[in-house]
Amino acid sequence: MADLPPYLFAEIDRKKEAKQAQGIDVISLGIGDPDTPTPGHIVDAMAAAIRNPKNHQYPAYAGSKAYRQAAATWMKRRFGVDVDPDTETLALIGSKEGIAHLFPAFVDPGDVTLVPGCGYPVYHAGGVLVGGKTHWMPMTADNGFLADFESTPDDVLARAKMMFLSYPNNPTSAVADVDYFDRAIAFAREHDLLLVHDNAYSEIGFDGYRAPSILERPGAKDVAIELFSLSKAYNMTGWRVAFAVGNAQAIKTLATVKSNIDSGVFTAIQDAAIEALLGPQDSIVELNRLYQRRRDLVMSALGSIGLEAETPKATIYVWAKVPSGYSSADYAAKLLDEANVIVAAGTAYGPYGEGYIRISLTTPDDRLEAAIERIKNAL
Ligand SMILES: *Cc1c(COP(=O)(O)O)cnc(C)c1O
Repeated sequence: MADLPPYLFAEIDRKKEAKQAQGIDVISLGIGDPDTPTPGHIVDAMAAAIRNPKNHQYPAYAGSKAYRQAAATWMKRRFGVDVDPDTETLALIGSKEGIAHLFPAFVDPGDVTLVPGCGYPVYHAGGVLVGGKTHWMPMTADNGFLADFESTPDDVLARAKMMFLSYPNNPTSAVADVDYFDRAIAFAREHDLLLVHDNAYSEIGFDGYRAPSILERPGAKDVAIELFSLSKAYNMTGWRVAFAVGNAQAIKTLATVKSNIDSGVFTAIQDAAIEALLGPQDSIVELNRLYQRRRDLVMSALGSIGLEAETPKATIYVWAKVPSGYSSADYAAKLLDEANVIVAAGTAYGPYGEGYIRISLTTPDDRLEAAIERIKNAL
């Protein structure tokens, strides 16, 4: 437990609570949690599903047949990818749960996981919890924040079992092209790694950008699984529902671990998730319009604040370089102290996050505008 990284929001939370106790209004741009509600037709499906007594019993471990079929149908419609709903599809209680359980499935004490130099914190913490080791893959502006697996030393590769990638990326908002995916697949094959692609932001794209699935690429299913989450795509973070698709052996192994720890996703939630996946998709278009407008708002203000960022093509984050002379944590602390605005320090996501802050777009427009005004005035 002592090896788990310190919770970097702890100090921020303490300061925030102290300020709030004094009656100061603090605006948080720190957390990536959609602020608009789950679309009504999905809520309606849940309302009906919760009255079905069959749903009151234990769920099927791997997910209901109908949910796995819906996931497979969605993969076909959205990406043109075929997955077998029985052997290549697994329901998850959120992709976070799937990520965490991949570690007891595939990583023995001392084994190495290749982890993006800044990324979703569970890629590292999951390894710590099973006595595994993390190799942080370099991620820099120079290589477009594409995690550099090719530079991994041979002695590290000899002990490596698993590699995580995630594009569109949290926290950098970088996107990957298919050539990068092809190189990753070849690399995983050469070094006998399970490649896990976390596609949590596949549906959030701007200016016409639509993210691919790694499973579109030839040979991907030999080495890879992909995780899809309904959380960001359908404003369902609180519902806890996602799925894994891809390599049948890996899916089976993950399912075995899960069947010994959890008992699956509440079937009523799976019914609602089926409606999300197969029902009208207009909510995604609207959500992207909303986030794109907020992205433009933040991007147009950055210059006058003295920050720089690439314009994101996807995700709900702006990844801004802090002015020279500040660490990520110092600059985030300064924004809280002087402007009463919370942002995430880049180092919360790994060592390559140093020098950056992450600004989240999941705050209502008026609060986002107010936060920008405060920062402009304070600095
Ligand atoms: C939000 C997020 C998740 C967690 O998704 P859940 O399905 O809600 O558990 C996983 N990976 C990344 C990169 C995320 O940003």
